[in-house]
Amino acid sequence: MDLYEYQAKELFARHGISVPPGQVAATPQEARSIAAELRAPVVIKAQVKTGGRGKAGGVRLAPGPSAAEDEARRILGMDIKGHTAHTVLVEKATGGFEEYYAAYLVDRADRTLLAMVSSEGGMDIEEVAATKPEALARMPIDAASGLDLETARLLASRAGLPEDVQDAVAATLVRLWEVLVEEDALLVEVNPLACTSDRRVLALDGKITLDANAAFRHDHAAFADGSDDGGLEARARAKHLNYVKLDGQVGVIGNGAGLVMSTLDVVAYAGERFDGVRPANFLDIGGGASAQVMADGLEIILSDPDVRAVLVNVFGGITACDAVANGIVTALEVLGEGARCPIVVRLDGNNAELGREILGDAGHPMVRVVTTMDGAAELVAELAAA
Ligand code: GDP
Ligand code: MN
Repeated sequence: MDLYEYQAKELFARHGISVPPGQVAATPQEARSIAAELRAPVVIKAQVKTGGRGKAGGVRLAPGPSAAEDEARRILGMDIKGHTAHTVLVEKATGGFEEYYAAYLVDRADRTLLAMVSSEGGMDIEEVAATKPEALARMPIDAASGLDLETARLLASRAGLPEDVQDAVAATLVRLWEVLVEEDALLVEVNPLACTSDRRVLALDGKITLDANAAFRHDHAAFADGSDDGGLEARARAKHLNYVKLDGQVGVIGNGAGLVMSTLDVVAYAGERFDGVRPANFLDIGGGASAQVMADGLEIILSDPDVRAVLVNVFGGITACDAVANGIVTALEVLGEGARCPIVVRLDGNNAELGREILGDAGHPMVRVVTTMDGAAELVAELAAA
């Protein structure tokens, strides 16, 4: 689960990391009164779970309460890379600071946790890595032994930070590490990590991804708002569906996690030849694949506005393909007009022939039956790109 900036800063503050005083507002009037309470120039910041808000005009300075109200009015409702700003963070403005970068993340390729610190904050870290690699220190951190102050100092020095701030930054790096470990985060990123002229270090931005598998150990429930994906994942969870939203256009349903994973691969591969269409989700409906589960799955997938075609890929085992086909037919009856885009079905395994016959006889105008997985991926990609 990704957190909003204001939520990340709440966790930072709990772990003793300095953040500017501020509060979240949902209306321009609220922004005005928060600014009035702060009695100082403020920054108004769009709360959306994506970066690049500054460039998009979602971060604005306001000298006082009435400017704060105006800026909040401008930013609230703003669309930033497909995310709508429903709230703004109103924060005491920080003046005259240097911008650094700090992050901890899971480096899956190297099977380790990775620390990254840079003297070049504020901008895209990918750009720093490409154009000024010497200003970016990268160090694998052993999960068991963790990050101590000495290592943190080494990171600060290798990143090329001015000597007189290295100690203060190192202390902050240790606290940020505590955030990663104690909150069970998969990502903690601060960009910019600011250093003021009086050498105070504070987090001006914050990005945290929490590990949902560790949710039971925490009181993080208050952070959830189901907004990451328009609530699709939350709705799927409520129906006990194993669903993960992705950012493509081809809805995918299969039985068995392995089959669904390979289906995502073949769809992505076929999509390369059709406008680069990609899978829109992962959905494993498991062994049973009853009509109700099929209907629930199709309903969730079809309510994703990005989906332009669906691939149902089922390998019949104990639940044979004729039962799955009957499930699909019933599901389509339940959905009615909701079956709004082409649905490519590939059945294989136990009673596959019979299953295809059932679908053929039903003759639903949206359904296309294909016998091979590659053929099905090809057709669904073509239909999604059309
Ligand atoms: P992002 O663009 O989504 O990463 O949003 P940030 O929170 O990083 O803000 C973008 C930029 O706005 C930062 O790199 C800073 O340069 C600037 N900024 C953020 N907060 C303040 C502030 O309190 N005072 C000033 N002067 N600039 C700020
Ligand atoms: Mn930032």
